[in-house]
Amino acid sequence: MFNPKTGEVRCSICGTSIGNINGDGNYFALIRTKYCPACKEPVRRDQNRLAQKAKRLRDKQARKLINERNKLLEEENNLLRKQIKELRRKTS
Ligand SMILES: [Zn+2]
Repeated sequence: MFNPKTGEVRCSICGTSIGNINGDGNYFALIRTKYCPACKEPVRRDQNRLAQKAKRLRDKQARKLINERNKLLEEENNLLRKQIKELRRKTS
């Protein structure tokens, strides 16, 4: 969290001061920093976990679509096979 009045940047979670844009460090790096080093790691892990969860869901939905499509193709295949059999029977 950035305080425009004081120029201080604090951790969005625990409120620990990360730095002051008027004083130290790189302004742009500091202004983008949201969390202190102690909070950063769990946040990153949490984001990773959420990203993986979302990916698993996407994969699951993709598999479901593929399975449904497979099933339809299989049914179509069976019908075509029957038709071929029928045609052979009629022409012979
Ligand atoms: Zn923190």
